Amino acid sequence: AEEALRQAQKMEAVGQLTGGIAHDFNNMLTGIIGAIDILKRRIASGRLEDLDRFMDAASTSAQRAAALTARLLAFSRRQSLDSKPTDIGNLVHSLEDLLRRTMSESIEVEIVSATSLPPALVDANQLESAIINLAINARDAMPDGGRLTLACEEQELDAAFCARNLGVTPGRYVVVAVSDTGVGMDAATLDKVFDPFFTTKPIGQGTGLGLSMVYGFAKQSNGLVRIHSTLGEGTSVKIFLPVADAEPEEQTAESAPIHHGDG
Ligand code: ADP
Repeated sequence: AEEALRQAQKMEAVGQLTGGIAHDFNNMLTGIIGAIDILKRRIASGRLEDLDRFMDAASTSAQRAAALTARLLAFSRRQSLDSKPTDIGNLVHSLEDLLRRTMSESIEVEIVSATSLPPALVDANQLESAIINLAINARDAMPDGGRLTLACEEQELDAAFCARNLGVTPGRYVVVAVSDTGVGMDAATLDKVFDPFFTTKPIGQGTGLGLSMVYGFAKQSNGLVRIHSTLGEGTSVKIFLPVADAEPEEQTAESAPIHHGDG
């Protein structure tokens, strides 16, 4: 019964997902077909002035459709991770310039990192794109300006926490938090944010894939994502990543065979 339920939930998710894509894609095609129709009629009746406008509209819609399929492909490919012990403090500081350039002028950028963080076991490139994704969400949530804070610290997750958050094991984690002082989210939005293709942004601006990708990345990294948000006050998204030396037992077991033949 549990398996059947899981299967049903999976099918439901796939249904929502394909419905979402079909809807977005349809809107883009409607734009293209509409513009071509107008062009055809204009040309047939010899009204040739101002045709650029409709060609541009068709082109823009086609480009959006192309961008959507490119993202879809990237999403379904789900590159395998190249996880290595990574200095997260370093990584976060190396993003500072890029983030400042990505934010609007009315957004302050602050980087806070704990001293002597242990290395985390993570794919540095994927973590960078996750952080950039979150920062862009933060920017979008602060149209009137505010503050973006990128912070990292070490945190211990205990058995009680892990019982409530299935899939994570107790131990030491490096936590990267991307926080904003933006519009925040209501409970209904918070409930859906990790769903692929859920977006509250206008078509062409939001794909609804950002947070679901961050979620998948954290899961694949044996970590976790948590979101705290208050309407009108802001949002904080935390990515938990396991400390690189957090599983000494497994490492010993793996490295043991290397010594065979000795003595
Ligand atoms: P997208 O940004 O393309 O919409 P995401 O999966 O990244 O896709 O986000 C889904 C939705 O979650 C957004 O459309 C927005 O409503 C909400 N959201 C995400 N991040 C924030 C944030 N920092 N502040 C407020 N709302 C957010």
